[in-house]
Amino acid sequence: MKYEAVIGLEVHAELSTKSKIFCACSTEFGAPINSHTCPVCTGMPGALPVLNKQVVHYAAKMGLATGCTVNRLCKSDRKNYFYPDLPKAYQISQFDVPICENGEVFFYVDGEKKSCRLERIHFEEDAGKLLHDEIDGTVVDFNRCGVPLIEIVTEPDFRSGAEVIAYLEKLKETLQYLGVSDCKMQEGSLRCDVNLSVRPMGSQELGTRTEMKNLGSFKAIARAIQYESQRQIALLERGERVMQETRRFDEERGETFSMRSKEEARDYRYFPEPDLPPVVLSQEYIQDIRDNLPELGEAKRRRYAQEYQLPEYDCQMVTSHPALARFFEKLIALGTPPKQGANWIM
Ligand code: ADP
Ligand code: ZN
Ligand code: MG
Repeated sequence: MKYEAVIGLEVHAELSTKSKIFCACSTEFGAPINSHTCPVCTGMPGALPVLNKQVVHYAAKMGLATGCTVNRLCKSDRKNYFYPDLPKAYQISQFDVPICENGEVFFYVDGEKKSCRLERIHFEEDAGKLLHDEIDGTVVDFNRCGVPLIEIVTEPDFRSGAEVIAYLEKLKETLQYLGVSDCKMQEGSLRCDVNLSVRPMGSQELGTRTEMKNLGSFKAIARAIQYESQRQIALLERGERVMQETRRFDEERGETFSMRSKEEARDYRYFPEPDLPPVVLSQEYIQDIRDNLPELGEAKRRRYAQEYQLPEYDCQMVTSHPALARFFEKLIALGTPPKQGANWIM
């Protein structure tokens, strides 16, 4: 029998705000451990969160750039779980009413245009980081506690690793052009959980999925998808069942391993965050963000091809990062022939 993979993604992007989501601590990466902390982000009793309005702005901006509806009213919820990097023992996130819903992202695979539906985009706080050290044992760094994130959740619309990578490239480019996230994977600013199931070709039903967490690079994501689809197909071929669980991808061995059975929403005992009011956005506020969206990579590629008669490859190269596109446009403004400017950059 022929099988196909069915994949949905949950992407976390750290936002490029100066301060954290609920306090005035800096979000700067790489500071000495526990130097960017205060009673709010270390969960001291009685400390109260105040929502950073730039987080709302960035989340709405990303939503509008990906065709989502931005809800005029949304709220924050507590997601309860115990872990040493989470001093409050709950994460403030959004549960049933996220800020953005129902978007769509377009991308190209081997020249063919494809798209993926977005279920939602919500904002939430990051957790701290456990550092494992041979001398000190495990220490916890709370600097990352309360760094703002958006989580971008897709419908299970991908059928291959190539589609997933093309989508992620597009998402990263969009976040960078909007200035919403720097997307530095090596610093953990962009992280991706991959949900994957397999089913017989032609079937409309969804199979049981596994979730692979915190994959560190696009290459690791592609390998993990390859390995995990084969593993699930082999199980089905032997007449066995796929267990719904969270799996870890071991980059050195190129295999996935079971971490824990999948937790359900009810395990988190979500409830509305009592320390924060709902977020109410005016039509004007949303329209103003929409009117001020910058020209994105896709639009630039089309314009460069038309206005400057640049080959497709050149357009792709000079728009691969907003800083390059800015540089290219500066060259043009200074009178450089477009093809020559593109050649210099490449
Ligand atoms: P949870 O609440 O457990 O996180 P969701 O229903 O929100 O689960 O889905 C999380 C992600 O998993 C989404 O990206 C979704 O598209 C994907 N997903 C859900 N079911 C499947 C499935 N059977 N196969 C592949 N991906 C799936
Ligand atoms: Zn703080
Ligand atoms: Mg979910």
